[in-house]
Amino acid sequence: LLPILLHRFLYRKVTPTTEPTFLLLGPSGGGKTAFLTLTERNVVASTHTSTAPQTIEATLPDGFTPNSSHYRSPGDPAYERSRRFLLVDTPGHGKLRRFATTQLVKPTNVRGIVFVVDAASVAEDAGLNETAEYLHDVLMALQKRYTGAKTSKGPKDIPVLIAANKLDLFTALPPHLVKLQLEKAISEVRTNRAKGLRDSGVAMGGEDDGLDEEREWLGEGGEGSFEFAQMEEVGISVTIKGGNVIGTEGVDTAGWYEWIAEQL
Ligand code: GDP
Repeated sequence: LLPILLHRFLYRKVTPTTEPTFLLLGPSGGGKTAFLTLTERNVVASTHTSTAPQTIEATLPDGFTPNSSHYRSPGDPAYERSRRFLLVDTPGHGKLRRFATTQLVKPTNVRGIVFVVDAASVAEDAGLNETAEYLHDVLMALQKRYTGAKTSKGPKDIPVLIAANKLDLFTALPPHLVKLQLEKAISEVRTNRAKGLRDSGVAMGGEDDGLDEEREWLGEGGEGSFEFAQMEEVGISVTIKGGNVIGTEGVDTAGWYEWIAEQL
């Protein structure tokens, strides 16, 4: 009997998940785990530093209608099914980010990326730079996924929501400033990366530095500043919406659930 069970276990059909998946990305401390917990139970529990990805199965809260279900009524099984999604929390620590990148290279059912930002920390240089570097790399991975696609149709778009979190803090920047600051900081990251490539290319005497540089350049060419709108050209829409997962005056995550609903 044991061999049979073992065989069954080893060769059991792993049913691939078909539920739309949203990845939570962003630097450590932004509030990813808090948002995951809120979405899972609709209560905020204390969070611990996440060291491994965690997936939860969630249902869109009442009051938000999935884009695909505008003509269905609540109670209809298809409507209820369309409200379900998976939320994957990823560790934000430097070394553990590789997991997130792997997910981007081979995304299974990834319907969108929620990049959680501490809107208070980006008011300071250190927080801003860390966030901008991480976001630059995420957008770069998506851009490469698009430009490297084998089919002429291109891969399915993966939109990005920048969730400007912790707006309950008086030190938090409002979303439009978070956007401007990030665009400015990403412009710098992109220039520095290009310079780094150029320097290493010169050192190695490589011949197609120009090509490499082009491939590693986020958004439109040219020396101008980076804008999220430039990502549209490679099929990536970037939206920024503010909110807070925790706060003495209550929680505000409506904008983020609205965005998720639009992708469902
Ligand atoms: P993660 O590393 O991105 O998963 O971040 P966590 O979810 O662990 O949150 C980091 C810290 O920020 C925790 O102490 C949270 O309680 C706190 N936090 C998360 N969201 C908010 C928010 O909206 N407002 C405030 N004031 N604190 C928050």
